Amino acid sequence: MVSSLLQAGWLKDEQAIMGTRVAVELWADDEPRARGCIGQVMAEMRRIDALMSPFKADSELARINREAAQRPVPVSEELFGLIARAQKLSQTTGGAFDITFASVGYLYDYRRHVHPDEQALAEHLPAVDYRQVRLDAATHSVRFGRPGVRIDLGGIAKGYAVDRGIAILRRCGIRSALVTAGGDSRILGDHHGRPWMMGVKDPRKPDGIAVVLPLADTAISTSGDYERFFIEDGKRYHHILSPKTGRPITHTMSVTVLGPDATTTDGLSTAFFVLGPKKALALCDRLPGIDAVIIDARGTLHYSSGLTPPERPDGP
Ligand code: ADP
Ligand code: MG
Repeated sequence: MVSSLLQAGWLKDEQAIMGTRVAVELWADDEPRARGCIGQVMAEMRRIDALMSPFKADSELARINREAAQRPVPVSEELFGLIARAQKLSQTTGGAFDITFASVGYLYDYRRHVHPDEQALAEHLPAVDYRQVRLDAATHSVRFGRPGVRIDLGGIAKGYAVDRGIAILRRCGIRSALVTAGGDSRILGDHHGRPWMMGVKDPRKPDGIAVVLPLADTAISTSGDYERFFIEDGKRYHHILSPKTGRPITHTMSVTVLGPDATTTDGLSTAFFVLGPKKALALCDRLPGIDAVIIDARGTLHYSSGLTPPERPDGP
């Protein structure tokens, strides 16, 4: 465990959990107590990973994928609730967000540079359809409408974990904190009277920043085509897939979403990525409290109307 006192009162801890970097940074009035709270946040992240990882054979999620095509699988209230939230997001986004992307998603292995061929895609694509996931609220059970369906909460689970982390810190009495899991963050309070400065990465320059956003009391998620990918024959194979084609999205490089909680911003960043700048920003402007910055395939930045700087009345 790497822990260091940044300066008087600021504490930071970073750990590798959920296949990504989890970081907690906060202002502590009472350092030993605050360290205990950070430990609780890290433990919560591990708990959620154990529940929702598709890679851990004994996770509830893995059990759904093994059995739900044969029979309804009763699951915990927590997992049921998150799947229900994902389903709602599928409806809101016209199916751009779809946890059954995993029915083809599992055919990709970004570390080993593996992708499905035409035949495998054609065979598995019909199982990508969120309407094939049937939820029974009375029994908290999940059933798939056809064989071949798999689900994966990778587009929303890290945001959920971040929200749980912030809830823990709040209960601890912390008033100023940043919790991050990979591309998903949530900010509690401000940075001692000033905003937290959050950089949006330049999608094609590993250490470059495309834009800096001054933020307080908000969640922010970024989805990019540069986190998990490989290139073959000049084509970029990355981890955000179109539920329509089963292939990686090519019209967008990065989407950053701001909103009230990280479960929402995480899911929406993935959905907006699939939709592309035009459709995504049209939807964004209809969603109260949500803003977005989108970098398209040419590197052009697009802002939602809440972030567009006002025109100067006297002109330049
Ligand atoms: P990360 O924070 O891991 O970069 P994102 O929020 O950008 O995650 O979401 C990417 C992840 O979402 C993928 O790794 C995959 O697990 C999942 N995913 C990919 N395509 C879709 C989709 N169309 N709908 C829902 N989830 C998706
Ligand atoms: Mg996401």
